[in-house]
Amino acid sequence: CGIVGYVGAGAPSTRPQDVALEGLGRLEYRGYDSAGIALASPDQPLISSAKKAGKLVNLREELDARPLPNATAAIGHTRWATHGGPSDLNAHPHLALDGKLAVIHNGIIENYYLLKTELVEKGIEFTSETDTEVAAHLLGQEYLVTGNLTKAIANVAQRLEGTFTLLALHADQPDTVVGARHDSPLVVGLGDGENFMGSDVAAFIAQTNEALELGQDEIVTITPHSVTVTTFDGRAVEGNRYTVDWDASA
Ligand code: GLU
Repeated sequence: CGIVGYVGAGAPSTRPQDVALEGLGRLEYRGYDSAGIALASPDQPLISSAKKAGKLVNLREELDARPLPNATAAIGHTRWATHGGPSDLNAHPHLALDGKLAVIHNGIIENYYLLKTELVEKGIEFTSETDTEVAAHLLGQEYLVTGNLTKAIANVAQRLEGTFTLLALHADQPDTVVGARHDSPLVVGLGDGENFMGSDVAAFIAQTNEALELGQDEIVTITPHSVTVTTFDGRAVEGNRYTVDWDASA
């Protein structure tokens, strides 16, 4: 339902975890039943993550009880369950590649059952009842083939039917978040030494009002110092840059 992505050079005052949680807080008005975050860091061989059914306060309590290591990139999600009831296990992020890859998703993957059958036949084990976990494992398989997160998400996007905004984070690329969208919104927030993604500008408006709107069927790759947009078939795209005319204190 709500999506946040963040990469930053790690100014001491800006913890990626906090940016993600604050962003999710500003997207709360959309309604949700669970929340979760995933973090990547150069010191960590795997993704660190936490997810809880219920309000954001439950996730914050979980993080207080079981703090995650410092990070350089974060993705955060508030879920409105469509496939699988609201539970800790069904909450996003969903992990793949033995915890090296994390995915969050807004929308519905209509052909998830077919894709799930294909993945189960390959020996992949599922831990949730969501349609989203299919996208996570499919992305894992594509990453093993391509070794490139942007190319991998492009290949996955072309196989999914339905509506989606997908964000992914890989432990081996702790300065990169990739996103893809089809019939579901995704906006990029442009910072200085940091960049953002959100399902709407509320996710990052407190940090920047410089934004980049993605078109239909586009993929964006952000690092602290770059934003690259392509189509699903790999064509470079400019993106529509604009200034958000919105008082952040409102
Ligand atoms: N279909 C996904 C799920 O049920 C995502 C729902 C959403 O947009 O939050 O987990």
